[in-house]
Amino acid sequence: QIAEWKKLRDEPTLTQDKTQVELAANIGTPADVEGVLENGGEAVGLYRTEFLYMGRDKLPSEDVQYNAYKTVLEKMDGKPVVVRTLDIGGDKELPYLEMPKEMNPFLGFRAIRLCLDRQDIFRVQLRALLRASAHGNLRIMFPMIATLGEFRQAKEVLLEEKAKLTAEGTVVSDNIQLGIMVEIPSTAVLADQFAKEVDFFSIGTNDLIQYTMAADRMNERVSYLYQPYNPSILRLVNMVIQAAHHEGKWVGMCGEMAGDQTAIPLLLGLGLDEFSMSASSILPARSLISKLTMSDMKTLAKESLTKSTAEEVVELVKATLDK
Ligand code: PEP
Ligand code: MG
Repeated sequence: QIAEWKKLRDEPTLTQDKTQVELAANIGTPADVEGVLENGGEAVGLYRTEFLYMGRDKLPSEDVQYNAYKTVLEKMDGKPVVVRTLDIGGDKELPYLEMPKEMNPFLGFRAIRLCLDRQDIFRVQLRALLRASAHGNLRIMFPMIATLGEFRQAKEVLLEEKAKLTAEGTVVSDNIQLGIMVEIPSTAVLADQFAKEVDFFSIGTNDLIQYTMAADRMNERVSYLYQPYNPSILRLVNMVIQAAHHEGKWVGMCGEMAGDQTAIPLLLGLGLDEFSMSASSILPARSLISKLTMSDMKTLAKESLTKSTAEEVVELVKATLDK
């Protein structure tokens, strides 16, 4: 099996009937890029920039960030790199920010909410990203977007920093795609409206599942409610993909679900364009996809949307793959 995976390393990701999708990797540091390339990653689908901010006693400077982003872009050598702006809060704290304790951190002051309030922090990151954009194929993604207002505001801040840099004579790429994470149900439900304004979506199922099922992703006692195959989740994913494609936009997924061997057939059939996962899952995923046909997966996905429980969906996937 390992020999088979190795052969697939430099191959495109194709179903048996030659539908192509993109397999990307989630990374946390520039050092992770080596693993992405060794495992045949076609892109970085999620660069979690939180790690740059954690494990130190003050905010990382613009230059520290610039160097990290530039390194990733250069190592990826023109392949797409989706960098997610700071997603702190929730389970991830920064000791030096001295945030008040919250009753419900996962529903609290985190990610884009914090960045729009603390624009001093946000603007430094955006400037570092814009400067780095000259060194590769950068895509910028905002986390935890719940309303169009938040997206528009974040985009405006980005455009302001871009204008400033350009006026200073700094080279900034004119081809930076701007997208959002779809990880809050309001955004999934309103995806048709968002799709008119963003360049892409990346579905964050880790949070989308927790918010849809109202089940804390860190709480063992409610982990039975953490159901990626629940038809409610599949319907939301379907809505997001349909909405994006209607506007000619692409959709990725960067939650754990994207690398899951039971979920992949369903996601493929629903029309997902990009799957972003831990590097070690990429070759097994490419191997699985090469054995599937898009026409069968479409039938499977359509039928899964008519099911009433996660168990029924899993049964259906098994029955389809065993055929
Ligand atoms: C997600 O929510 O699915 C996601 C990819 O982001 P994180 O796990 O960092 O919250
Ligand atoms: Mg998330």
